[in-house]
Amino acid sequence: MTESGPSIFSRIVAREIPATIVAETDDLIAIEDINPQADVHVLVIPKTETYANVSELAAGDPALLSRLVALAQSIADDRAGGQYRLIFNSGASAGQTVFHVHAHVLAGDLGEATLV
Ligand code: C5P
Repeated sequence: MTESGPSIFSRIVAREIPATIVAETDDLIAIEDINPQADVHVLVIPKTETYANVSELAAGDPALLSRLVALAQSIADDRAGGQYRLIFNSGASAGQTVFHVHAHVLAGDLGEATLV
């Protein structure tokens, strides 16, 4: 929660705004990225918005980060033979636009997707 209210991903978790949900656990949600940059482009997102970026998550709840990676692997297992690229943008100058930690899972035909 910021001065402008819950993050867009918290609003997706709360079903206040639509998303295509790929997987959900007690503390994670995975959605199709609305602007896909590869054949498979899924976001894996902790339900809590406590952590703005992956470093905060790693410091604050490493077990949750580990579960996030396991969910990314399982999505890649289902959709791309287990191979995938995992990207965390950390900071606006690195391309982060949503300050609620999330991983981009890119897989399948990556096309020109070297960055998201
Ligand atoms: O790493 P970054 O913060 O830039 O990633 C945010 C991602 O969230 C973007 O890839 C954007 O397409 C995605 N997004 C989404 N659904 C929304 C808002 C953003 O999939 N409603």
